[in-house]
Amino acid sequence: MPESPDIKVREVLPGFHLLYLPLPMRPTIVNVYLVNGGSEWGLIDTGMNTSDSLSAFRAALDLVGCRPEWIRKIVGTHHHPDHFGTSGPYKRLCHADVFLHPLEVARISSFLPQDRSPETVTFFRRNGIPMDDFMQIPSPGEFWRGVYEPTKPDQLLSDRDRIRIGERELEVVWTPGHSPGHCVIYFPKEKVAVVGDHLLPKITPHVGITAENAGDPLGDFLASLEKVGELDVETVLPAHGAVYHDHRKRVAQLIEFHEYRMQVMLDIVRGRPRTAYDVALEAFDLTPQSPFQQQFPATFETLAHLEHMRLLGRTEKTLAGDRMIWRSKDSGRR
Ligand SMILES: [Zn+2]
Ligand SMILES: [Zn+2]
Repeated sequence: MPESPDIKVREVLPGFHLLYLPLPMRPTIVNVYLVNGGSEWGLIDTGMNTSDSLSAFRAALDLVGCRPEWIRKIVGTHHHPDHFGTSGPYKRLCHADVFLHPLEVARISSFLPQDRSPETVTFFRRNGIPMDDFMQIPSPGEFWRGVYEPTKPDQLLSDRDRIRIGERELEVVWTPGHSPGHCVIYFPKEKVAVVGDHLLPKITPHVGITAENAGDPLGDFLASLEKVGELDVETVLPAHGAVYHDHRKRVAQLIEFHEYRMQVMLDIVRGRPRTAYDVALEAFDLTPQSPFQQQFPATFETLAHLEHMRLLGRTEKTLAGDRMIWRSKDSGRR
């Protein structure tokens, strides 16, 4: 028998249990929420499929006094491995219905074992990533092999859906940005928002453009922040970090943070046109020797900011050879 893990569970509000599940990377914990609806229970997010997380989950259920089969609904805020990674095993364990937004369903496969496509490599090169130095790094599917066991959802979430968990009712609030089909799970009567990665208390979620995610994710994210700011919320239940209360203050901070970051990037390209990768190294204080787990997301996040500014008329991009070069449009103003 492996050593029993520390049992970490807390009833943060009557009927709302926070389960702290370990992750094999930073952030080191994901919070999932077990909701007692009286005649049935619901689970929001599932953690990652590691033996530590599975045993922490079972121990927490025992401590709360909830049998797995009482959980009838499993709702995923989004498809990322730390959130949806154990949806397969828990669907089988609980015989529950699994809910996920369709835009997330379409992206599950990007975390499953597969080779990196030539289009993806072209996308990396075009944005300045020195791929000759990185051909050996694992693709996301190889990186997450074994710890990501998603299931096909039984039901698809859409904005403003109302779903009952026993005597409680939740409202789905579609919040694209961090991920295209990310949803905040809102309990209007209790004034509780389970915010997934959308509105974290201490860290800012990754918002990036990748080969699979084009469009304007930063614009989506900022609009989703405004949207959540309009909800009547007393308690915020985040996926990473501590429970908190003033959600509007956090919304304002995150909007300000991205305004500042856009300004920093605009200053970097002003007069010195360059690739998103080169902007990322400077904006995030990285070097070509920094871990690839930092350089890649920084480049994607930089692209999201540069593209959002392009739509606002503040930057422009041109293809020079096989490289996409960004420059500032608001010349002179500093
Ligand atoms: Zn996430
Ligand atoms: Zn997360």
